[in-house]
Amino acid sequence: MKKILVGGAGHGGLSAAIVLAKKGYDVTVVESKNPADMGYDWHDTMPGDTFDYVGIDYPEEYEPSNRMAYVAPDGKTKVIMPDAMRIDVDRKILINHLIKEAEKAGVKLVFGQKVVSPTVASAWVTGFTATDGEKTYEYCGDLVIDACGMNSPLRRNLPSHFGIDNEFDKQHIFDVYRIYFENLTGELTDPQYIVTFFNLGKPGIDWMNTNKDFVDIIVGKFEFSGELTQEEIDATIAKYKEQFPYIGEKVRGGTGVERIPIRRMLPLIVANGYAAVGDSAGMTVPLTGSGIALSMKAGKILADTVIDAGDKDLAVSRLWGYQYKYFTDFGKDYVLLDLFKNLFTYIDTDDINYIMEKEILTADKMAIADGFPLKIELSYLLHVASVALPLAPMVPALLKCFKLLPLMPVAMKSIPEKYDAQKVHEWTKLYNAL
Ligand SMILES: Cc1cc2nc3c(=O)[nH]c(=O)nc-3n(C[C@H](O)[C@H](O)[C@H](O)COP(=O)(O)OP(=O)(O)OC[C@H]3O[C@@H](n4cnc5c(N)ncnc54)[C@H](O)[C@@H]3O)c2cc1C
Repeated sequence: MKKILVGGAGHGGLSAAIVLAKKGYDVTVVESKNPADMGYDWHDTMPGDTFDYVGIDYPEEYEPSNRMAYVAPDGKTKVIMPDAMRIDVDRKILINHLIKEAEKAGVKLVFGQKVVSPTVASAWVTGFTATDGEKTYEYCGDLVIDACGMNSPLRRNLPSHFGIDNEFDKQHIFDVYRIYFENLTGELTDPQYIVTFFNLGKPGIDWMNTNKDFVDIIVGKFEFSGELTQEEIDATIAKYKEQFPYIGEKVRGGTGVERIPIRRMLPLIVANGYAAVGDSAGMTVPLTGSGIALSMKAGKILADTVIDAGDKDLAVSRLWGYQYKYFTDFGKDYVLLDLFKNLFTYIDTDDINYIMEKEILTADKMAIADGFPLKIELSYLLHVASVALPLAPMVPALLKCFKLLPLMPVAMKSIPEKYDAQKVHEWTKLYNAL
């Protein structure tokens, strides 16, 4: 049976490891943290079908997510989203559940070792080096699954001839700060989950999720406009506290500033003996950075591709099946949202207020972030045309972001089903050009 190495015990890496170990593969996961430090002191929202998709049990505790609304920066327009079958899961419960499932399936879990770099023998990745700070460990395998997240040293240290992007640029990075306060009175907002664009003029998105006992606040800023500052965090929290006096002083959890990817899938995520999943492969919802479900689903697709390869080696030509299936089933749905996200580089608070007030940004259009299909009806286009005049100054920005939009359907459909180096190269060029 093949030997599979996984760098990083996150959602994507563990999902792939569980599926493969259940089929008898020899799977080793190397994780830099110690078990007690796994996960975070917060809960996450994710589509409810994820566990069925991967074929693993649901965690013991989870609950349906609160109804969500997008709110304009001036607070006047509220777009209430359709129910998207999302669930909320405590991050520590989720990751510990995946770890238990992995142990049950026979995965070997190594904690407290940091993966440092891939081992490369000419055109193949053959393993990786890890360290516990004192000793260095060499791991060899038939496949390295890179699940180390956005700053993965595996992806970053791949030689350029593999053709895989080593770095994410600032356009695709989001800074987020999260804090939980007690809810003094148990009062709730309507709906309970409020998402605000360009709150206080900051190019970014803030979330406030109100529950009976606590209020969960996330302050987010697109890094293209600079890093999130303490002043911006303090101002946002002060605004929420002024608006909702039941937000108490007592802090119940949270984090410092974290950097997360907000991008469509990287153009190439596989090489001979190597495949990236999850954040390491840029598999997030471009506007919000949500990546738990996408990384888990990608882990399942990757594992199935490895199983389908049987005794044959895991050359790029076979692993391409994973990239093809992930892209056609999920990745392509987020390309438009990624282009839309770029628009945020050029517009300001007034533009967003107008776009929301005039119903250019509507619930059914925003629902693509939850995986709903995008529909552009003639009536919608006519409506947009009738209110678009004041947006004329935005035309250069729209042209910059969407100039190659007509090529998008071509890029969606022309991804080669079977690996052919030349055809794949041409497709990645087209995909990058969008
Ligand atoms: C504040 C915040 C809130 C979020 N909220 C949501 C949400 O509500 N819903 C949602 O879907 N997503 C959310 N996300 C995004 C989500 O966390 C990621 O998209 C998701 O975890 C990606 O899974 P992954 O398996 O790719 O990576 P991760 O889950 O990040 O796992 C990577 C693992 O690799 C380990 N690692 C890193 N480097 C090394 C190394 N060198 N050697 C060994 N191990 C290493 C890490 O310790 C980690 O365990 C949020 C992120 C943040 C920061």
